[in-house]
Order: sequence, then C-alpha cells, then structure tokens
Amino acid sequence: TQRTLVLLKPDTVRRGLVGEILGRFEAKGLTIVAMELRHIDAAMSDQHYAEHVERDFYPDLRTFVTSGPLVSLVLEGDDAIEVVRVINGATDGRKAAPGTIRGDYSLSNRENLVHGSDSTESAAREIALWFPQLAL
Ligand code: ATP
Repeated sequence: TQRTLVLLKPDTVRRGLVGEILGRFEAKGLTIVAMELRHIDAAMSDQHYAEHVERDFYPDLRTFVTSGPLVSLVLEGDDAIEVVRVINGATDGRKAAPGTIRGDYSLSNRENLVHGSDSTESAAREIALWFPQLAL
C-alpha cells in the first residue's frame, strides 16, 4: 500500500466541486488518512512547489494557489500515487482525457483543480510538509 498527497486547489473549492472530486477518489477505493481545509501563504506555496519556483509560470501559479482556501489530504491504497495521477488526468485540462477530473471539469493549464504527488520521493516530502504529524 502507498500514500500520496493530494490538493483540491482553490478553483475546486470556489466552484463547489470538493464533494464531486473527493467522491471519485473514495469511489475508486482510496482511503482518506488525513484532510484539512487551509488557506496557504506564499511561503508555503514556495515550499510545496520548490521544483517550480524558478519557472516562468510560477508567479501566476503562486497567486492562484494562495487565492483562497484549498483542501489538502493524504490518500492511501495500492499504487495510490499512480492511481491518483490517472484519475486526475493530464496537466492541461484542454488535453486531459474525458473521464478524468481535469478532462471533465477543467479548461485550463493552471486552474486544473487537483494536485497529486508524482513519485514516492515527492509523496514523502509533501506529506511531511503538509501533515508533519503523519511523518512515518
Ligand atoms: P500537479 O503537480 O499539480 O499534480 P502536474 O504534475 O500535472 O500537476 P506540473 O508540471 O507539476 O503539473 O505543474 C504543477 C502545476 O503548475 C500544474 O498543476 C498547473 O497548475 C501549473 N502549471 C504547470 N504548467 C503550467 C503552465 N505552462 N502554465 C500555467 N500553469 C502551469
């Protein structure tokens, strides 16, 4: 079994899609291990997106993820990291396949509703950052 860090970004909360999106993860069989509604500041964004802070798109991404409350959660299950990324779909909502969260609900490359850890290393780092009380 595996754990992954998931964010339901501020567009999800603003659009009233928390229940819909959370329901997809639950229906798949993933277990919620921790969850919190939280409005993060720029410093937390910089830590979460440490690998992106120098990218040209990052200032706008930081403005977006700090624009309102988001839901952070840890999901657990077999191959949870890959399963969540398949359910989320491709980064750009315009290219994401129908049936995925982004494919069904996002028309944007930035406001793409969800985040999921992309490797076991980033899952460990992100879970420790968002839920230090869970550190293994
Ligand atoms: P996440 O890491 O959030 O699950 P991802 O792995 O599909 O998404 P990354 O390439 O890690 O995508 O980018 C992180 C986030 O930065 C994206 O989810 C999106 O919100 C934003 N982003 C990525 N590329 C762009 C871009 N070219 N323009 C604007 N925003 C972008």
